[in-house]
Amino acid sequence: MRDLWRYPFLPAAHAEIEKMYPRGQLESQLEKLLDDPLYGEARALAVERLNAAVADRMESLGTPVDERDEEMYLLSYLFSRLILSAQADTKVINWVGVTEALRAERTLKDEETSILLYVSKQLGVPVKVVEGKFQVHYTAYLTATKNLRTGKWKLVNRGVVDGKVMLDQRTLVRVLREIVVEHLQDLPELPGKLGKKVLERFSNDMENMQVMAKERQERALRELGQLDFGKAPPCFSGHLADLQEGVNLPHPARFFLTTFLTALGQEPEQIMELYATAPDFKESVTRYQVEHITGKISGAEYDTPSCSSLISQGVCPGGNALCREIVHPLSYYRTMAEREKPDGVKRKRLRLAAAGSGDAKLWAQLPLKAPADAPPRSLAAALRADGPSRVSLQVEHFRGRSTKAGGKYIRWASARLADDTSPSLETLPLTQWELALPLAHAKSRGESVEVTLLPVKLGNQSRLHVLAVS
Ligand code: SF4
Repeated sequence: MRDLWRYPFLPAAHAEIEKMYPRGQLESQLEKLLDDPLYGEARALAVERLNAAVADRMESLGTPVDERDEEMYLLSYLFSRLILSAQADTKVINWVGVTEALRAERTLKDEETSILLYVSKQLGVPVKVVEGKFQVHYTAYLTATKNLRTGKWKLVNRGVVDGKVMLDQRTLVRVLREIVVEHLQDLPELPGKLGKKVLERFSNDMENMQVMAKERQERALRELGQLDFGKAPPCFSGHLADLQEGVNLPHPARFFLTTFLTALGQEPEQIMELYATAPDFKESVTRYQVEHITGKISGAEYDTPSCSSLISQGVCPGGNALCREIVHPLSYYRTMAEREKPDGVKRKRLRLAAAGSGDAKLWAQLPLKAPADAPPRSLAAALRADGPSRVSLQVEHFRGRSTKAGGKYIRWASARLADDTSPSLETLPLTQWELALPLAHAKSRGESVEVTLLPVKLGNQSRLHVLAVS
């Protein structure tokens, strides 16, 4: 077949490379090829190929202009496999596998029938054209679709006749993509000496690829619409961090992440991007799971599990102070959104949390933002000052609370703060948990914390109004 460079993963492409060496000697020559100046271009192209795949810009690779160029393309694929095997970075391997397979799928969609038949055969799926469709033996179909055994991919839904399955071109190409991904992610183990040499030669390039894989992961996170990770509960943040670190997440944790993100308005495609760097990422399986859970193919959208379910499934890592006031991870997210409410609503909720005590003027004029230039003071000096001060304090007591008002819950906290210049004083209600949580954290660790505060009178009692915590 001409144009083998388009499909360098085919056995025929490998055979082309082997022709350049006396039979069976390619393996023993690999170490030399890593240094040979003749192959500098192919090595550079291999790095460029991997970079393009990790960064999802395969179109930037260009196409070979002559036969020698095509040879370099084939060799570059061989070098790229060596580099991937040696560095064993799951994120990089998964991105490369998925992006290269998608590129192959795009190319195959426009191929003539004869090329499709050839590529299918090479990939272990012999196909015959019958009445404009592609006929595959059911055993080959089952092997090729082992990760797609649901819904329309099930053999019973394909209409098997005489042991044969009929596929249209689009479906056949999709099946071939499965095989290509599997092949690309199945890397050979390199002999110790060769692996060491590849590592030495390409260590800088590998570091670059890892940085790019991280950037792609971060981009996937940014593309998660308006989602504010600062509001997410520990169960979400912890598992998301694990996912990014390449830790294998058990199914209940993935189910939770998917339903949580869906409830916050994320699309299946965005969620897929997030999973793409998981070490056991299988595009088809993950896509099916995500689309099933989000209701895209099942028609039934699954709800985010409650805290009690997540605790019993081992998904809850142990909550924080806010977790003790809620029963559902989505309540956590909504409670953390207090800061986005209009100032009038915030003041009203503060007053309700304080059970209406204090005069109306206090609540109407209460500042809600910390000035950037609040001076550092001791607590005793801060109590005498007219404006806000920054004070380093110990948290003597912290308590989360829930108040039902107007049919809705207000989750808030109170704390007693002190330094060695003043006895401890209670705070005004803390309805913004981004202020309350660092105080709870400091209390549990016995650490001091810097608080921007304003002394206020609530009835005849002095209270500390917390404006910022750092
Ligand atoms: S208590 Fe609930 S919200 Fe908090 S970490 Fe556990 S499961 Fe998540």
